[in-house]
Amino acid sequence: MSEPRAESLPREELERQTLQGMRRTLGHALANPAWKRRLAGAEPGDIRSVADWLRLPFLTKDDLRDAYPFDLACVERERVLRIHMSSGTTGNPVVVPYTRADLDQWATVMARCYAAAGVGAGDIIQITASFGLFTGGFGFHYGAERIGAMVIPLGAGRTSLQLQIMRDLRATVLAGISTYPLRVLEVAREEQFDLASLSLRVAMLGAETWSDDLRQLIEDELHLTTFDIFGMTETGGPGLGIDCQAREGIHVWEDHYFCEVVDPLTGAPRPDGEEGELVVSTLSREGLPLIRYRTHDLTRVLSRRPCACGRTHLRLDRIRGRTDDMIIFRGVNFFPRQIESLVLKQPGAGPEYQIVLDRTPGGSDRLVLLIEARESFAESGLPRLRRDLKELLNLSPEITVLEEGKLPRAAGKSQRVVDRR
Ligand code: ADP
Ligand code: ZN
Repeated sequence: MSEPRAESLPREELERQTLQGMRRTLGHALANPAWKRRLAGAEPGDIRSVADWLRLPFLTKDDLRDAYPFDLACVERERVLRIHMSSGTTGNPVVVPYTRADLDQWATVMARCYAAAGVGAGDIIQITASFGLFTGGFGFHYGAERIGAMVIPLGAGRTSLQLQIMRDLRATVLAGISTYPLRVLEVAREEQFDLASLSLRVAMLGAETWSDDLRQLIEDELHLTTFDIFGMTETGGPGLGIDCQAREGIHVWEDHYFCEVVDPLTGAPRPDGEEGELVVSTLSREGLPLIRYRTHDLTRVLSRRPCACGRTHLRLDRIRGRTDDMIIFRGVNFFPRQIESLVLKQPGAGPEYQIVLDRTPGGSDRLVLLIEARESFAESGLPRLRRDLKELLNLSPEITVLEEGKLPRAAGKSQRVVDRR
């Protein structure tokens, strides 16, 4: 562990720290009149139990967008050392200001994530996420410096170069977004690059939902162990949590983040074990504290008991999808990740795919699944994929089989769904 004492605190002590963090965060936020109005009279002294916190109003993504750029920021301009931003593909971006303490907090939680993945000072970490407004690159970088590992900050893309450097500098850890290893495998195939010449043993991946089947494929083909790292721009970037060697859920650093799981429609709390929308409050962040932020991410609490790894911080399930990427097609609900699993189960097909939704000239909804496959797939695999989609997801999409390499490859997160309805 990176901080053995903090990471293995008994539950009562964690809960005590949670309450302290809540009061501190509330007091800090109230100094900004915009927060004071939102919080309608709540005072730190009112928070005597978690139940008191649950009476505070939710903070939504729209609230953050409407606050563009700094309306909900809680520090003076002079104390802001860094800005990161969410992509802002729809509307204003969310702007997150970081103080020195925020950058330090980020390094702290990222160092814990590395340790959970068994990565330490002797490792050579190739960072394949971009450095910029996106938080991925810098987050991996700060954590790596904190644990004293060697960093190769290559950033996104340039996969041929990535492979060469990875081999020649003997990188042991690949850090990046979940689908990037697919690109690595593809370029290695095209260039007949010998994957056995690599020294990778760990990949720390996140930023997109990825199915267990994709995870298995990456581990088998690259001969390494993957770790699922989670976070978002609003919470300060990657590092909110990661799964450990026991692989029984994502540990969330509870002394820094308070997590709830709620019904996405009503906002009512969901009991442990049941899926719902994750709501995050930050307990130690200054620039943009979050109070009950609705993340849109779907997960459930797996356990609050101590883990086999010795950590006591609660474990969430891997993220299944987002409330806003659930697809509803003719009354059937499904997530892209479920399609991904079925495609990957077919020998000769995948791993790339795209789901296109549009309307026929006659006005009815149409679902087209684009996949890549070998020539022989049409005879043997295609009927099986059709059957699986029908039996397991109750879907009968039009399926277009393309040659390998024909689907667009994204420079960052992959675009699995195109909705033209
Ligand atoms: P990041 O820099 O962490 O990608 P973004 O704000 O761009 O931050 O995106 C955050 C969103 O990415 C999360 O709300 C979640 O939907 C998704 N995400 C991040 N990490 C994971 C993960 N490990 N598994 C699934 N989805 C993830
Ligand atoms: Zn554990």
